Amino acid sequence: MIEMAQINVTRSSMPDFDEYINEIRELWDSHHLTNNGVKHKELQSMLESYLGVGNVTLFTNGHVALEYALESLDLPKGGEIITTPFTFVSTTHAIVRAGYTPVFCDIREDDYTMDPSGIEALMTDKTCAIMPVHVYGNICDTDAIGMVAKKHGLKVIYDAAHAFGVKVNGVSAASFGDVSMFSFHATKVFNTVEGGALCYSDESLAPRLDSLKNFGLDGEDCRFAGGNGKMSELHAAMGVCNMRHVDDEIAKRKIAAEEYYRLLGGVDGIRLCPLRDGVMSNYAYMPVVFDGYKYSRGEVQARLAEQGIMARKYFYPLTNEMSCYRDIPGFGGEKTTVAKHIAESVLTLPLYADLAVEDVQRICDIILK
Ligand SMILES: *Cc1c(COP(=O)(O)O)cnc(C)c1O
Repeated sequence: MIEMAQINVTRSSMPDFDEYINEIRELWDSHHLTNNGVKHKELQSMLESYLGVGNVTLFTNGHVALEYALESLDLPKGGEIITTPFTFVSTTHAIVRAGYTPVFCDIREDDYTMDPSGIEALMTDKTCAIMPVHVYGNICDTDAIGMVAKKHGLKVIYDAAHAFGVKVNGVSAASFGDVSMFSFHATKVFNTVEGGALCYSDESLAPRLDSLKNFGLDGEDCRFAGGNGKMSELHAAMGVCNMRHVDDEIAKRKIAAEEYYRLLGGVDGIRLCPLRDGVMSNYAYMPVVFDGYKYSRGEVQARLAEQGIMARKYFYPLTNEMSCYRDIPGFGGEKTTVAKHIAESVLTLPLYADLAVEDVQRICDIILK
């Protein structure tokens, strides 16, 4: 048998080595490595135009961006934030670490985003915000969530870590709610190695966020305790390079994803996320739900692993089932039954720009055999 290279669930997009070296050469002349340098400014304006949003603030990573977003909005201390447990732990941790209490809303069966019809029943007089997640790049029902939020005067902060470049009827995923967070982690559709950003339309947030991520400094003085969340020039330069190729990378992801849809679509017991009309997807992930299929999710994962193909149970476990949360009264997964069921049956298959169509065919063969 021929030795096959291992196929991981994701593979970071990188520019040519020389392109990156050329990009950072001037930093060796200027010795300006961080604190809002030229690469930082260039990436920020590239993102403002690409994401079609008035304000972009860059951060060290997406997680701290979420924490700073919560801090910048001046929500009442100790308030409750309605969110979902079907996400990466970062979403729930950010709420807790910023001093708020997560309240878990269930997700929808078809696209795994927050079920807006469940929000009002979870509200109390302490509810101060909603933090939904655009899971796998599937955009939440932003109209319905926006309406509930408006009716009750709540802020909406989207975890848009999976939604870079997604558009709904021409509207950028960055433009929903009060603030949207994007992650530029190495495994995301667009990366700066580590990095993240907040996008928002209220420009009065910009000086507050700039100060929050730079120790709260205001000249020599500090009027509040800020942290350090600045993106360095080397990371921003990686972003500038990757931005030049992001549309090509998404187009290549699309070819691989469409092959998966062609081969796995309509198979009994296998559920794929429906591709919606009017949505320009970024093909960030390839989630497959095994529900009544001839093999369980675990069996499929093991069969793939035998052939060096690393699929991932993502998201599993639910955040409210992690040891640090599951025993807190009201937190556990027993009330979010749809989320629990999906977390127990979903597998994300390898998907990245350089994944060959032949590899997709081989992966599907193993699953279907
Ligand atoms: C990646 C991710 C984050 C965290 O972003 P980092 O840049 O890794 O800090 C948060 N939420 C979701 C849904 C993510 O996928």
